[in-house]
Order: sequence, then structure tokens, then C-alpha cells
Amino acid sequence: MINTSETTAGTLYVVATPIGNLQDITFRAVEVLQHCIWAACEDTRHSKRLFQAYNINCKQIALHQHNENQSAKNIIKLLLNGDDVALVSDAGTPLISDPGFPLVLLAHEHGIKVSPIPGPSALIAFLSVSAVKSQPFTFHGFLPAKKQQRLHFYQSLLPLNNTHVFYESSHRIVDSLEQVQQVFGDDITVAMGRELTKQFEQIFRGTIVDLLELLQSDNNHQKGEFVIAIEAHKQKNDDNLNSAQQQLAQNLMPYLPPKTAAKIVADQFNINKKKVYEYILSCR
Ligand code: SAM
Repeated sequence: MINTSETTAGTLYVVATPIGNLQDITFRAVEVLQHCIWAACEDTRHSKRLFQAYNINCKQIALHQHNENQSAKNIIKLLLNGDDVALVSDAGTPLISDPGFPLVLLAHEHGIKVSPIPGPSALIAFLSVSAVKSQPFTFHGFLPAKKQQRLHFYQSLLPLNNTHVFYESSHRIVDSLEQVQQVFGDDITVAMGRELTKQFEQIFRGTIVDLLELLQSDNNHQKGEFVIAIEAHKQKNDDNLNSAQQQLAQNLMPYLPPKTAAKIVADQFNINKKKVYEYILSCR
């Protein structure tokens, strides 16, 4: 490993850029971008608009999900040559569901200094306004696009011990939230941040039933960019199964003997097996 302080290598600056509102860029980000010789951009045309607005004239190199391994190697050569390079994505913080990981890893492996220029990220902007418990939280980025895989993913989150946050596309938002309802029940608290910092910004916090109603009441509410959170949920200690527990029991009942189904539900939610067994018998 090379010691950075003894090299003449340049610095790799990882620069956050706006997630919608062009004014959400820090003074330091502009200064660094104006100073760097090179900018590695997810989409050079997209970044050009930002660069023009702030009089940034660095040379652009494409670094996106389809070329990032090769592009990273080329950028390392520039850095080793002593040039400073800025890494930007189309929006927000690079590497947060965005390209850049191989470049940053390679820079570390070459002892090149990597320096963050912090700023917007949809995830953090959303957590700051959504009033979901954010300690602890788990961020999943984008969920599987395929319906069945996404369902299994949601089921794997049971029991909900912490808040789960993810990005979802406008094409799948309703389907995906219907699966949230199916797996976690009607009472679960969710939050949605749509089009943050943009003209049609919308923030919601409430039950999954109310969120689905809001989205389905107007197709315009299904457009744009989304961050979603499912909040940690304390199991109630009453005698009845909650709706998520009932749902799982009902899903398993046609395929498994009552005792086996009861054990699976009880293990999944850390609840009394007898209680589930009795519920299953009452449904037959
Ligand atoms: N690197 C970015 C960041 O730091 O937030 C995320 C990039 S990821 C490719 C794009 C996804 O982030 C979008 O599909 C959406 O889920 C979320 N996102 C980005 N901008 C957003 C915004 N203004 N409002 C809500 N969600 C946003």
C-alpha cells in the first residue's frame, strides 16, 4: 500500500450534487469542481447542465454502470499522474445507489486520497422530514424489480425490528406498496418522499392503507421519484394475531398442516405458537 502523503498523486473528490433543485449545491462543491481538471460523470450530458450553471469547465469522463470497471482504471492513471478528479453522479451522492464503487475502491488500493464533498442525498433528505424512527434504520437501495423476488424480500424483513428505507420507481410504486400491505398488514406505519426539493414535492407519513389511497386517488401522485420507509413495529401483546400475522398464517394454511404453519408464523414474529395454532383452527 502506498502512503498518500509521500506520493504526488492527485485527490479523488466524491462530490454530491442536487437531487432536483439546482441551487442545492454547496459552495465547496462548486469550488472543487471548478478546480478539478477532470470530472467523472454518470452522464456527461446531464452533468453539463449543472456545470454550465456554475461555470465549471473541467474535462468530462463517462463513468456509468456499464463501463465503470474500465473507466475506473483509466481514472486511476490520471490520479497517479497527479491530476485531481471529481466524481459526480446524475443526482445526489455518488455510490448511494449510483456508480462509483469500483473507482473509490481502486483509489484506496492505490493509496490515493479520497475526499468527500458532502451534500444532498434523497435518503438523508427524506429521513430528515419523514418522522420515522431512524435509529436504527437499514437502507436497501432499489428493491428487486420482479414481483415474486420483491415479495420474498419484504417477507425477509419480518419481524420488523428497525426502520427499512428503500428507493422505488414510479412504475412499481403501487404494486410494491400493495405487497407491503400484504406482508406487514394494514396497521403498519410507512412514509413516502416524492419529488423531494422539486415543484411537486410530497411528503407522507401514516398507515399503508392511507398511503395507497393517496396514490390511487390521483395518477399524478404516482409520478416522479420516490423514497419509502417502513417503520419498526412493536408486536402487540394482546391475544389476537395482528393483520400481518394473520396474513402469513392464511398464506401458509392451504399448503401446510396447521402445526407446521403455526410454527413458521410463530418463529417469524417471535410469538406464541399455540396462539397461532388456535387462530388457524378457527379459520378452518
Ligand atoms: N445517489 C442518489 C442519492 O444520493 O439519493 C440516488 C440515486 S438513485 C439512481 C435514484 C433514486 O433515488 C430515484 O429513483 C429515487 O428513488 C431516489 N431519488 C432521487 N432523487 C429523488 C428526489 N428528488 N425525490 C425522491 N426520491 C429521489
